[in-house]
Amino acid sequence: MEYRTLGKTGLRVSRIGFGGIPIQRIEKKDAPALLDAAEAAGVNYIDTARGYTVSEEWLGHALRGRRDRFVLATKSMARTKEAMAADIRTSLANLGMDRIDLYQIHNPNAAQLAEALAPGGAMEALRDAKEAGLIGHIGLTAHLAAVFEAALEVPEIETVMFPYNPVERQGEALIRRAREKDIGFVCMKPLAGGAIENAALAIRWILQNENVGVIIPGMATPEEVRANTACPAAPLTAEEEAELARIREALGTRFCRRCGYCAPCTVGINIPGAFLFYGYLSRYGLAAWARSRYEAMPVTASACVGCGACESRCPYDLPIREMLRECAAAFGK
Ligand code: SF4
Ligand code: SF4
Repeated sequence: MEYRTLGKTGLRVSRIGFGGIPIQRIEKKDAPALLDAAEAAGVNYIDTARGYTVSEEWLGHALRGRRDRFVLATKSMARTKEAMAADIRTSLANLGMDRIDLYQIHNPNAAQLAEALAPGGAMEALRDAKEAGLIGHIGLTAHLAAVFEAALEVPEIETVMFPYNPVERQGEALIRRAREKDIGFVCMKPLAGGAIENAALAIRWILQNENVGVIIPGMATPEEVRANTACPAAPLTAEEEAELARIREALGTRFCRRCGYCAPCTVGINIPGAFLFYGYLSRYGLAAWARSRYEAMPVTASACVGCGACESRCPYDLPIREMLRECAAAFGK
């Protein structure tokens, strides 16, 4: 495992960290074994969020007795001072800790970032918490390049998390600027929200970028931990570059990253689920499996009434309605 200093935080972090979204799928009793595998692999950076239901609590449970060996990062969607202060208290209680190493403003759009930075905004609570020693450092996570760029000008912000992988390179110049400003870069969506199936290849490609501090693939089993961390930082071969070119060609830019921000659908369609099965049907030659899973969905793509509520929430501006029509046509329902 390679280690890096995460920008001006001074935190020494493993280049491959632990993404805490999928832990919601397992039981609390299985969380310690997951962190055993992470620790054995040299992982010392853990990312979670107030918004990931039980993730903070499961991780807090798994970290008992070894807190000092990990850098713990969490985040909140709160935009006001009062709400952020309450969320910091909740995170500390969920995690069973008296200090969180990095607390991030979770995925604001431009207007929400302005609100968080204004008098009475979330940043005031973060500054207070830092002064009180409840949090060590302040960061921000974003899906929009304009928000990433704006965050680079905010003096309190010490880290930025943004999607970056072989098929989503829109943040590359900003990642370089972050490094120049000594702002730590946390790479989210290393597998493009699951669209890239060859995890080791995607992670190795990202590791080649020296401006990336830590990469946080999500993991739910010790086997996934081992697979995601067994990625040597060796240069890619010509065959591996060709494989990435094939993946880029197949995915294009019009694909769902499974972030879930479009939910809830007015009529109850599991939008990322529908796109996932459509991807398996159209890209990976798993037609029978995809069809059986799709047909088991309680509400399928053809139920879309075209209200557009989901599209206004998608950070990638995907034409969800049009894509669902294609999905319904392909599956015939
Ligand atoms: S446009 Fe369709 S998919 Fe989107 S929220 Fe409305 S009904 Fe659901
Ligand atoms: S459709 Fe957009 S918002 Fe919904 S999961 Fe996919 S990328 Fe995220």
